[in-house]
This record gives sequence, structure tokens and C-alpha cells, in this order.
Amino acid sequence: MTCDEAKILLHALLDNELDAGHAREVEAHIAGCPDCAAEFAAQREMQRVLADTDLRYAAPASLRARIEASLP
Ligand SMILES: [Zn+2]
Repeated sequence: MTCDEAKILLHALLDNELDAGHAREVEAHIAGCPDCAAEFAAQREMQRVLADTDLRYAAPASLRARIEASLP
């Protein structure tokens, strides 16, 4: 497996979208390739941070009141 192929499959591996055979191939490549291992670690960290972050933004009550007031 080349680095280009591994990098494409890294994301699928992180999302648990690979079958066992492809997952093993990517993991074997990562184990022997510091470059892809670093990329994998960075992507995993990004995924973890995004999962921990509350990305929902609650609109202020005044905005809700204005919208409701404008509705027929
Ligand atoms: Zn590589």
C-alpha cells in the first residue's frame, strides 16, 4: 500500500467504515510509516476534539421572541 492509498483510507478507518481486511492493511502501513502514523494521530485527535465540543449555538431569547412576534 502506498502512502497516498493509506491517506485516503485513514478517514474511513477512523470512521470505522473499513472492512477487516482493509483496516488491517492500513494499520500495517501506519505501523511501518511514521508519516502516515502522524497523519492518523492528527486526524484522530481532530475527531476527538470535535466530538467533545458543543457546536450547537443557542439563539438568545430576545431573537426567539422577535421571530415569534413576526409570525402570523
Ligand atoms: Zn505512509
